[in-house]
Amino acid sequence: MSQTAMSETYDFLFKFLVIGNAGTGKSCLLHQFIENKFKDDSNHTIGVEFGSKIINVGGKYVKLQIWDTAGQERFRSVTRSYYRGAAGALLVYDITSRETYNALTNWLTDARMLASQSIVIILCGNKKDLDPDREVTFLEASRFAQENELMFLETSALTGENVEEAFVQCARKILNKIESGELDPERMGSGIQYGDAALRQLRSPRRAQAPSAQECGCW
Ligand code: GDP
Ligand code: MG
Repeated sequence: MSQTAMSETYDFLFKFLVIGNAGTGKSCLLHQFIENKFKDDSNHTIGVEFGSKIINVGGKYVKLQIWDTAGQERFRSVTRSYYRGAAGALLVYDITSRETYNALTNWLTDARMLASQSIVIILCGNKKDLDPDREVTFLEASRFAQENELMFLETSALTGENVEEAFVQCARKILNKIESGELDPERMGSGIQYGDAALRQLRSPRRAQAPSAQECGCW
């Protein structure tokens, strides 16, 4: 198999979103996850609105297709179509800004209303490296997470701490839900597709001509 074919082999594809107030570090988190480096301010290539990466979660290859708000949140106009069919989301606040923490309830309401009912959300308290300027304690945020059935991590897009973990933990929870039957990847708007690797296992030799999920466009 060629290198490209190898790198495109995955069991599942999940659509992910990154939400939260402007300035909390969403674009930097996405950049750190995809590129393994901090996107500094001198890099004005705006519009990295989308990124994808294949991760290994407990032996399964999962391709994450991640959407960034691309600045829409500045105008409080994050659209319904942005939320549509997302399997997972990182809900981001800045630990040095209580204002961004106070906005979480609004973001949650939108996500629960506009995204898939079963969307898995991980709360990320970003800018963990700025601990001296902290306005929100770890304990307070973990209580909020517990009350709202969210996973929770403090992250730093600057140092990379917990960035990969946030995406992986969210993906792991979605996989667990698929395995337990709580989530059905075939349901419309689930935000999940089977990859070629999974299809190969599903196909019987007689059905070898069946189109892949991507070919038939069932998202
Ligand atoms: P977005 O509006 O949510 O996409 O936020 P950006 O990713 O554009 O980041 C906003 C600002 O916060 C930028 O100046 C970043 O350099 C800075 N920033 C983002 N993440 C971190 C972090 O983890 N630590 C620190 N110290 N600064 C960060
Ligand atoms: Mg941004």
